Amino acid sequence: MNSPASLRTRSQILQQRAEGIFPGGVNSPVRAFRSVGSTPPFIESALGAYLTDADNNHFIDYFGSWGPMILGHAFPPVVEAIQRAATRSASFGASTAAEADLAERVLACYPAIEKIRFVSSGTEATMSAIRLARAATNRKLILKFDGCYHGHSDSLLVKAGSGVATLGIPGSAGVPEEIASLTLSVPFNDPEAVAAAFAAHPDSIAAIILEPVVGNAGCIPPAPGYLQMLRALTARQGALLIVDEVMTGFRVALGGALELYGLDADLVTLGKIIGGGLPVGAFGGKRRFMDLLAPLGPVYQAGTLSGNPLAMAAGIATLTYLQENAAQIYPQLEASAQAVAEGVAAEAAQAGVPLTLNRVGSMWTWFFTTGPVRNYAEASRSDTAAFARFHSAMMEQGVWLPPSQYEAMFLGAAHGKDELAATLAAAQNAFQAVVGA
Ligand SMILES: *Cc1c(COP(=O)(O)O)cnc(C)c1O
Repeated sequence: MNSPASLRTRSQILQQRAEGIFPGGVNSPVRAFRSVGSTPPFIESALGAYLTDADNNHFIDYFGSWGPMILGHAFPPVVEAIQRAATRSASFGASTAAEADLAERVLACYPAIEKIRFVSSGTEATMSAIRLARAATNRKLILKFDGCYHGHSDSLLVKAGSGVATLGIPGSAGVPEEIASLTLSVPFNDPEAVAAAFAAHPDSIAAIILEPVVGNAGCIPPAPGYLQMLRALTARQGALLIVDEVMTGFRVALGGALELYGLDADLVTLGKIIGGGLPVGAFGGKRRFMDLLAPLGPVYQAGTLSGNPLAMAAGIATLTYLQENAAQIYPQLEASAQAVAEGVAAEAAQAGVPLTLNRVGSMWTWFFTTGPVRNYAEASRSDTAAFARFHSAMMEQGVWLPPSQYEAMFLGAAHGKDELAATLAAAQNAFQAVVGA
C-alpha cells in the first residue's frame, strides 16, 4: 500500500520551488520538519484517517491539521455543507443566519459563554480576549505559563511552546521589550509560582491565560485541583481567567476542558475544531465583559472575513455531527487513543527506550524521557534526537506524526482498528531504529 518515503521526487521538486518563494519553504514554521532533520512531503489530498502525498505515498494522520480534523478528512457532511454555501457566494461582509446557528451550537456546549464573537484564527481570538481583559480591569499585565502557545500576537510570544521551543528561541525578535515585559510567564502546575506573581504585582495583572490541558509543549494535563485554584485566585485578585480552548475545545470533551474539569471561566477562546478545517476562531464569555466590545463598548475589534459563510457552514456541519453523536464518538476517541498511545508506549518499554506518555482523551505526547512531565522544564528534558529518529522511522512506514517533540498528537473518528494495528507495528520497528542508532 505504502511506497517507501524515499520515493519523494515530486515532493522534493515542490519543496525546492517553495524554498525560493516562502521563507523556509513554508507558510507556518513547524511544517518545515527542521527539528526532525528531514523534508516534509507535500500533500495532494486526504480522506478519513489518511494523507496522500504528491508522490502517492499514504500516511496515517496523527496531527489532523493540528487539531481541527476530528471527524476525519473530507468528511461528507462537511464537504457538502461547504459546497452548498459556496453556491450562495463565498463572502458578504454582512450578517447571516449561519453565524448565530454556529454560535448557538457553541453556547449549548459552553455554559461559561454567554456572548461570543467569531474571528478567523486562534491568534485573533486570544489577542482580542487579552485586549478585552485589559479594558475590563484597567490593568496591563498578563500572566501566562511557560510552554503555553496562544497564537503569535506580540504580547503572547513569550516562552510560547512548540513552534518557538522547537527552534530554541525564548520569544521572538521584533517584539519590543516594553511589550514583552507586560507578559509574565511562570511554570505550569505550580500554585506557588502563580501566587508569587500576584504578590509581586499587586492589582496589576489583568488576566491569566492558559491552555487548560497544555498541548503546545507536548501534552501536559493539569494537576488535580490546579485549574480550580486558578479560578479561585483570579476571582480573589480581580483578574480574569481566560481559558484558551483553541486546541481542547470539542476535543477533550464536547464542552472542552471546562466540561471535563468542571471549570468556569470569564473568557474562553476557541478555534480549530469549530471551523471544521476552515479558518475560524472565537472568543466569548461573560456578558459583562463581551458587551465592552465595539459597537456596544469602547474595545475595538473587527474582521473583514469574520463569520465567513463557508467557514460557518463547515463549523456547523462539524459541531452538529459531534453533538448528535457525542455519546458514541467521545468514548470511541478515548478508546482508540488509549489503545494506540499505550500500545506504542508498551513497544518502547519492550525496546528499552525511556518514554513518558501523557494523554487526555484523543490528544497525547510520547516524551522521550523517563519523566514525569508536569511542566515545560520537564518536557524539555526529552531526548529530541531520539524523537527525531522515531519520527523519521514512522514517516518512512507511512505514519505521519507532528514533527516536534513539543506537539500533541491527535486522532479522530476515522481512525479504526486497522490504522491502530498498523501504527503499533510501525512503532515496533521505529524503536529498533531509535535503539540501533
Ligand atoms: C493553535 C492554537 C492557537 C492559535 O491558533 P491559530 O488558528 O493557529 O492562530 C492558540 N491557542 C492554542 C491553545 C492553540 O493550540
